[in-house]
Amino acid sequence: MSSIESFKQEERVFSPPADFVTNAAISGMDAYRALCAEAADDYEGFWARLAQQNIHWTKPFTKRLDESNAPFYKWFEDGELNVSWNCLDRHLTNGNADKVAIIFEADDGNVVRVTYKELHERVCKFANGLKSLSINKGDRVIIYMPMSIDGIAAMQACARIGATHSVVFGGFSAKSLHERIIDAGAVAVLTADYQVRGGKHLPLKSIVDEALALGGCDTIRNVVVYKRTGGAVEFVERRDVWLHELVEQQTSECAPEPVGAEHPLFILYTSGSTGKPKGVQHSSAGYLLWAMLTMKWTFDIKPEDVYWCTADIGWITGHTYVTYGPLAVGATQIVFEGVPTYPNAGRFWDMVQKHKVSIFYTAPTAIRSLIKAADADPSVHPDNYDLSSLRLLGSVGEPINPEAWMWYYKHIGGERCPIADTFWQTETGGHVISPLPGATPMVPGSCTLPLPGITAAVVDDGGHDLPNGKGGLLVIKRPWPSMIRNIWNDPERFEKSYFPHELGGRTYLAGDGAIRNEETGYFTITGRIDDVLNISGHRMGTAEIESALVANPMVAEAAVVGKPDETTGETICAFVVLKRTRPEGDEAKQIAKELRDWVAKEIGPIAKPKEIRFGDNLPKTRSGKIMRRLLRVLAKDEAITQDISTLENPAILEQLKQAQ
Ligand code: ATP
Ligand code: MG
Repeated sequence: MSSIESFKQEERVFSPPADFVTNAAISGMDAYRALCAEAADDYEGFWARLAQQNIHWTKPFTKRLDESNAPFYKWFEDGELNVSWNCLDRHLTNGNADKVAIIFEADDGNVVRVTYKELHERVCKFANGLKSLSINKGDRVIIYMPMSIDGIAAMQACARIGATHSVVFGGFSAKSLHERIIDAGAVAVLTADYQVRGGKHLPLKSIVDEALALGGCDTIRNVVVYKRTGGAVEFVERRDVWLHELVEQQTSECAPEPVGAEHPLFILYTSGSTGKPKGVQHSSAGYLLWAMLTMKWTFDIKPEDVYWCTADIGWITGHTYVTYGPLAVGATQIVFEGVPTYPNAGRFWDMVQKHKVSIFYTAPTAIRSLIKAADADPSVHPDNYDLSSLRLLGSVGEPINPEAWMWYYKHIGGERCPIADTFWQTETGGHVISPLPGATPMVPGSCTLPLPGITAAVVDDGGHDLPNGKGGLLVIKRPWPSMIRNIWNDPERFEKSYFPHELGGRTYLAGDGAIRNEETGYFTITGRIDDVLNISGHRMGTAEIESALVANPMVAEAAVVGKPDETTGETICAFVVLKRTRPEGDEAKQIAKELRDWVAKEIGPIAKPKEIRFGDNLPKTRSGKIMRRLLRVLAKDEAITQDISTLENPAILEQLKQAQ
């Protein structure tokens, strides 16, 4: 069903710079292969060694992998640790106490710095405050807070007392928040009065009130409110408490609560790109281990780096690569409250210049929109900024189209910085396929090779390995420490979604299609398996056609979907955002024709979209991913009845409805 016949071969290859290789944690392909060989020889021993070396255990583990109740795998089960200790306390005695942990830049440009010692104190007070509200180990706590030092402290405070947090992105509605509160059975909501984004004050507390008023949230005892703006809020007596009042009486020492390795550190709902969000449950030890290792391996983190991951704490990227990974390895990181386009679309580049950022990690959606912005307004073009502090770039969230990769490489990285195109998912806990910046030769649009210990493969619908050059299902064959443990409250959906019978019930199914290069074995993600196109019996991924469209100089962004057709099975319908304003009438027809011919030339006539619709934007999740499942419905001219709770911009659906 999901196999893909072919994929356009990308010819360009970029080697990591020699001095990068020399100084890298994993230096050169031989070092990479040595780690892979170690994992292949003694899989459990490999992970056990790394877990011993990287994690501070309060009780050492003796068990390694437990597969007795597969696919509900357990790692290091009898070990005990505290994740917050591993992120903070370890730095009080290793020389990092006075090192800056977080450089926080507010929406208005105001900058605040906190050291590891200060952050530790803040988290301890927060944790003691939570304890004073009788929040205990195992309780679930919803965090609905903006990007802030306090948001990160809230997560760390939960980890410190062994409460399981579930962060809900601050852009979500009362209804989405309500659903998550109920699903998680949370005892408290940690929120803020307002959040500030792009010069606007947006309410959070009143949305929490609205969510709780929807009813059924009987488990909630308290709402803790961080005062961000001091704007008007209503308080419910006894239930609601200000964070500053809660912590002011607390001592700055809070003994970290040891938890079992498998204790759920958090539940996080997926983006909803392909359906109703799933409450992904993660462990403590395995998750932390991979957060640390990937900081060292993929990001090659060094003591002097200024690291910036632009993701919000509401997404998995903000969990692993803002709250846990960077702190656990003692990095100095930027935390940014605002948006990339305020006060103008040069904000990211201005911040890189100002803070001398050396590692920068963002999403293709941001890159594509900043390319469009730089094209429209030369004054915000990255070439106007001094970006020479950068040494490494990263991308995450969607396939990065080769042309966007090239722009990122050239204009942001100055052709000097390796790009880690990190493929991973909420469910994988951290990167699973990515170039290593001091080893892997890079190919634009390819996430290249699995990280050491990750048994990624491409298989057919029966779970049989496919040869290189043949596209199919992306799977991970063996359980790894940072993998999803369950879907909260829904073990059946967990088994069905990720370990289907057809693949034998033990192989992790990612839900994405992939193809490996015939010579190099490099992985390229071809698109979601639900989105595979079938044109006259020819199977194609969405990513290839979208990348061909984006390679046209007029195009900023594109999404393609299949539309049922009696003769060909399916025809291709493309939704396109141009760098210029949306064309209409004859002009739209003319540009559509040009783009059809372009795709025919780039890939072949079979890939030519039959229909092209232009929009000012595409329907996206709040994390910036294209929602092709909605476009499929629009292409068929049907009404949308699916879950759109995570859709960012519902208004755009109207615009894309009409055939041009
Ligand atoms: P849902 O599972 O609810 O549909 P989602 O899959 O968008 O939502 P996430 O876990 O945030 O939720 O995203 C993971 C997905 O993002 C991957 O399965 C893949 O489709 C895409 N992705 C992430 N990084 C990359 C990358 N570097 N290259 C290609 N695709 C990527
Ligand atoms: Mg997913």
